[in-house]
Amino acid sequence: MQNDLKLFTELVEFLISEEKNNPVATPIDTKILYDTLDLNLNDEPLIDKDFKNTLKEIIKSTPKTASTSFFNQLFGGRMNKATLGDLLAVMLNNSMYTYKVAGPQVGIEKTILRKICNIIGYPQSADGTFAPGGSMSNYMAVLMARDKYNPSARNKGITNKMTLYTSEASHYSIAKNASFIGIGRHQVRAIKANEKGEMLAEDLEDQIKKDIKKGYQPFFVNATAGTTVLGAFDDIEQISNVCKTHDIWLHLDGAYCGAVIFSDQYNHLVKGIEHTNSFSVNAHKMLGTPLGCSIIVTKDKKHLYESFSNDAEYLYQTDDDDFNLGKTSLQCGRRNDALKLWTLWKSVGSLGLKSIIDHQFKLADVARNYINNHPDYTLYSFENSISVCFNYKDISAKTLCTKLYEESKLMVGFGNFKNQDFVRMVTINTILQEKDILNFFKTIEDFASSTDF
Ligand SMILES: *Cc1c(COP(=O)(O)O)cnc(C)c1O
Repeated sequence: MQNDLKLFTELVEFLISEEKNNPVATPIDTKILYDTLDLNLNDEPLIDKDFKNTLKEIIKSTPKTASTSFFNQLFGGRMNKATLGDLLAVMLNNSMYTYKVAGPQVGIEKTILRKICNIIGYPQSADGTFAPGGSMSNYMAVLMARDKYNPSARNKGITNKMTLYTSEASHYSIAKNASFIGIGRHQVRAIKANEKGEMLAEDLEDQIKKDIKKGYQPFFVNATAGTTVLGAFDDIEQISNVCKTHDIWLHLDGAYCGAVIFSDQYNHLVKGIEHTNSFSVNAHKMLGTPLGCSIIVTKDKKHLYESFSNDAEYLYQTDDDDFNLGKTSLQCGRRNDALKLWTLWKSVGSLGLKSIIDHQFKLADVARNYINNHPDYTLYSFENSISVCFNYKDISAKTLCTKLYEESKLMVGFGNFKNQDFVRMVTINTILQEKDILNFFKTIEDFASSTDF
């Protein structure tokens, strides 16, 4: 192991210097990928020197998500203490299903879950688990709701016509999950959003009433804290009133921006969160832990047990259910995703998590101010969002983003809302400073003035 640790350190130092000197890796066209890099698996072993060089070539060409030029998606940057925790989790290699195998790591996971339940005002009966990503957290939520309102579904399958509701601006996993749980995509109602991307509670109520009249059983509403394109926050209080009237499970998908719960300056964006039945948040998005670190909590832990537990004598041989986390998880063997969030949280404190969140909103303000003060830009997004959407001059967003990537200038994506295309810059990378945001715009301007579109 010692030699490999040395090699690891050397490769990481190489990666960090690449991030600095070549922040946007030269993309390799897919047509020549297998001719450019030695990715083949052969019968013969590779000698150490070639092994190292091959890895270096791969690192060089791999997109640099922790560089100051990465604005592409809803994650980025590197929180050192979280990375340290994840590296330790790899070395420890526990499986989180039993206390016997994971020991104190179980306590680490439970501590995080309890803390989050307390922060959002859930009662002592609440609990949660770590899922393999935000899509799967949403899946666990909708499955718990299905089993609550149709308990025989677990054994007999779906027998009645159940419907679920989510805004037209929500994440695509809601529709996918409807198909996974046997409800079907056609039973997903896309609720209208206003121009800011927030779900309209009146339209929700109308749809629910229509479905009840037709003999459907509405059972699940998904609200979003940070929609994937505009970063909008649905009005939880209004939506939860509708859900209470009709006795429907309310889930809050906070994969992107649910971490605002850690900031007393921004937690008003999820006002009413205590009225939800379940809530999910990705620490690998705003909190900047390595992928993946997704948490799902629910107000009454009995729903976790009722949907996810299974007896297995070969597995559960010691300790009580509370410490055998396999009884409430999607998987059997499960990676330790909690440690990286715990090492981050422990080292910076809850106040440190708050500064991470506040910093991202501040960077977004800097970006929006810049855009508003420069007549060549048009802004499409709103206050209180870390997705900054805009167009530059009359250059198509798609063309601009693609060329910036092909010419290794910037990694930034484009989006679309209500038939309007735009560049979507995301200020989720906490290691960025104000100057990096200004540099982002300067790069676009210099590039545009020297490029034919
Ligand atoms: C990212 C995201 C998801 C999916 O999370 P994954 O971890 O990528 O599966 C779900 N909902 C929203 C709003 C998201 O932004």
